[in-house]
Amino acid sequence: MRSGGAGVSASSRTDAAALDRHDPLLPFRDRFLLPPGIRYFDGNSLGALAKGVAERVHEVIAREWGETLIGGWNAGWIDLPRRVATRLAPFLGVAPEDVAIADATTVNLFKLAGAVLAGRPARERILAPAGNFPSDLYALRGLADTFDAELATVPAADLAQAVDARTALVTLSHVDFRTGELFDLEALAQAAHAHGALLLADLSHSVGAVPLALDDWGVDLAVGCGYKFLGGGPGAPAFVYARRALADELLPPLRGWLGHADPFAFEPEWRPAAGVERFVCGTPPILSLAALDAALAAWEGIDLAVTRSWSLSLGDLFVALAGRELGSRGFTVASPREGAHRGAQVSLRHAEGFALVRALAARGVVGDFRPPDVLRFGLHPLYLCHADVAELVRLLAEIHDSGAHREPAFARAAPVP
Ligand SMILES: *Cc1c(COP(=O)(O)O)cnc(C)c1O
Repeated sequence: MRSGGAGVSASSRTDAAALDRHDPLLPFRDRFLLPPGIRYFDGNSLGALAKGVAERVHEVIAREWGETLIGGWNAGWIDLPRRVATRLAPFLGVAPEDVAIADATTVNLFKLAGAVLAGRPARERILAPAGNFPSDLYALRGLADTFDAELATVPAADLAQAVDARTALVTLSHVDFRTGELFDLEALAQAAHAHGALLLADLSHSVGAVPLALDDWGVDLAVGCGYKFLGGGPGAPAFVYARRALADELLPPLRGWLGHADPFAFEPEWRPAAGVERFVCGTPPILSLAALDAALAAWEGIDLAVTRSWSLSLGDLFVALAGRELGSRGFTVASPREGAHRGAQVSLRHAEGFALVRALAARGVVGDFRPPDVLRFGLHPLYLCHADVAELVRLLAEIHDSGAHREPAFARAAPVP
């Protein structure tokens, strides 16, 4: 593992070109397949296809399923979730046996938070930031309604001070999905623990984007997506992490045979599997797992300190150019200026943001829009160089000045934004 790349920084188009000439990630870029002419700033929402994924999925369908039929379970399928967890563990900074792969992030959050509430009846409060990812808030609200608990939301900056003796759980997305603000999980874990509460982090927007050290930081529980920076494919399985000693105490509210200590004994009563595996419910989705496994294999040998340094440098350039070239055009930077407080994402605000994002996409530059006025750009270090950021800023200025985004076609919403 290399640790080079620290101190990379660019604030002008000239710096940008120089940095791209000494790209430490060059040897890895051709592992990812992007259509020609596309600059992809949406790898934070759906990672791009990696080489080898399509072949692997085809192999599983045509050979393993087609020829081996049910024998596939004993020829490797049943162990696939474990193998994927082992590949994923270094991204999280945890031991492989403390991670399980299952379900969607929202479902995993519900299971973990429900287990915490059930195990701590004297504490009825879940604390979350008001701007948290909505799906997480929906799941937590449903949980609070079902188990007669309380979901309290506060501004993210007040989270640490709001923890009290009634708090069972503090939970938040590590990176704010709108602004890209990166929160300090270590400090939040300490604040939670000081009052006997636990910390549950949603890593959907940080896994693969920011090196994580959950063990060192004292994070108790975590969930996250396989389809964002990691590139596991649309709807890829999500993951669950629980600190070992804690996992063995927790009883999930949603239980199934694959989380049983002996699934194929078909016992009438559920007995929890050891550790985090008890949070698995149903049959593993083998086709999606095969895609995620091959996607994670594409990260082999890539140093997350180098990718972090590169995406920070892309972000620094973006913030500098946007300030200089877009400020007078009605754009403001919605993300923290300081890299240490930013995930791999920079967001802008503009009253005509929706149409501007659509007009950009028509020119091959793909970002996304989040209401009310946020233009969101993921800075996936493996797909993007500084020249792409410079071109994005140039195009935004050009579209804005020409009014090209006012075409009626750009006002129409797609079913998925
Ligand atoms: C994307 C995202 C989710 C959604 O995950 P699902 O797997 O669709 O449930 C949940 N939480 C956060 C913070 C996200 O960014």
